[in-house]
Amino acid sequence: MKITNTFTEQLPGDENTINQARQVHKSCYSFVFPKPPSNPQLIHSNKELLEIVGLADISKQELTKFVSGATSLAGTKPFAMCYGGHQFGQWAGQLGDGRAINVAEIEHKGVKTAIQLKGSGPTPYSRGADGFAVLRSSIREYLCSEAMHHLGVPTTRALSLALTGDKVVRDILYDGNPKEELGAVVARTAPSFIRFGSFEIFASRRDTESLKTLTDFTIKEHYSHLGTPSKETYLAFFQEVVNRTKKMILHWQRVGFVHGVMNTDNLSILGLTIDYGPYGWLEDFNPNWTPNTTDSQHKRYRFGNQYPIALWNLTQLANALFPLIEDVEALKSILRNFKQEFNQEFVVMMLSKLGINDLNDTDGSLIEELQQLLEKSSIDMTLFFRNLNQFSNSAIQNHIEIVAKDSYLTTEQFNFHKKGWEDWLTKYADRISKINNEDRVEVINSVNPKYVLRNYMAQLAIEDAEKGNYDLINELYELLKEPYAEQPTKEKWFAKRPEWANEKVGCSMLSCSS
Ligand code: AMP
Ligand code: MG
Repeated sequence: MKITNTFTEQLPGDENTINQARQVHKSCYSFVFPKPPSNPQLIHSNKELLEIVGLADISKQELTKFVSGATSLAGTKPFAMCYGGHQFGQWAGQLGDGRAINVAEIEHKGVKTAIQLKGSGPTPYSRGADGFAVLRSSIREYLCSEAMHHLGVPTTRALSLALTGDKVVRDILYDGNPKEELGAVVARTAPSFIRFGSFEIFASRRDTESLKTLTDFTIKEHYSHLGTPSKETYLAFFQEVVNRTKKMILHWQRVGFVHGVMNTDNLSILGLTIDYGPYGWLEDFNPNWTPNTTDSQHKRYRFGNQYPIALWNLTQLANALFPLIEDVEALKSILRNFKQEFNQEFVVMMLSKLGINDLNDTDGSLIEELQQLLEKSSIDMTLFFRNLNQFSNSAIQNHIEIVAKDSYLTTEQFNFHKKGWEDWLTKYADRISKINNEDRVEVINSVNPKYVLRNYMAQLAIEDAEKGNYDLINELYELLKEPYAEQPTKEKWFAKRPEWANEKVGCSMLSCSS
């Protein structure tokens, strides 16, 4: 394992080293140390990832100190990154790592990894906030980023979850009821944490020199196959970010993940899912659902709007890169293609959820009708698609019973949609009549997870952990390592959301307070 410090050695940094909130110009970062925690305690660590990054051999005590911000690795200089962003459609100016500190850039067996501590104290980008994170949101990031990784969704990962021993005050519903919560830190990893907003901040300040330096760095370090910088290379870079973002969103739609805060500061330039805040998992199939109560009025970041928002965000990135490319038509054409390709690839992805690997002319309407039925009859997304592995062409009525059980409606309400299901399942039976059933089941089981981190599951783990019991964190962590496996002893997690979770904070409602 070798410390590289690539970001700080190759990019311009802030000369001011005082840790005070301010506007930082012509810089990609500011040096800042984590605030030492008063009594760090390791709740969980990720053995597999520790191996990958080359930290498997350090003692538990040393690891606890490192991942909680008590000590730094020799040869590192921790820093916070400067970036801006469009939040909920409005340019918000400078944001930056207000509570994340990059503590190491490591190279091990040819793999480069940046490690960030989230919740380890204020930085020059904290804008009046405290720089800390609470246990509940840290558990959610820790469990979900790993779950996403094992689902095959491009994502940042998590190395550890630790308590700081310090109290953090939060007003969870922003309703004037602040309370003390347990402070925690997640150590998360990615090849890089550069975001769309990292480019936007320079463009917004007409600082083309820094914009070019950062873009050249990003290409050299993370898109080196594109070659040496030129207008063509910048365009190819944009094209690849578009492709990666498209791929990421298709995965989100496949597994039923709703990010919740798709601001441009929360979109990774590597096409990784980043910043797990008020995210949620779709249970009853409602494209208008967002877990984020802060967005409940406009539902900008609802499940069904994630692709248009990705396009909107990519348009902001195109604007930011424009000074380097200066070709409006070329950029517009990439964005137009994104739209067309997304729609085509979406149908292909949805067909794979049905166990179908080829494309027919009528498949678009088969998918469209299915989505409408799922929504109208309030069907659990995960259960429905996984249970298609039990479908038999000769037993359509039986399958309607299965679908009925996966609905959140009452029996009488569901009966109203029975005919619709009969029609759709008949079309489906016809569509798959020439497909070998074993092949179909294999595709279904590899595309449709059996286990996802349902919102209430995370909430149960949080409630136990707040009382000092981490068993459920361990259990869910292990469960979600193999989301496509049957795991017969864990069937209780392959079930509809329980009724008590319907309107509960943390289950169906999540604010940005974290
Ligand atoms: P988010 O939308 O949660 O990714 O956060 C948006 C911006 O607010 C980022 O610049 C964060 O670093 C910053 N931020 C969020 N929470 C805090 C906090 N508790 N202290 C300081 N900065 C924060
Ligand atoms: Mg963020």
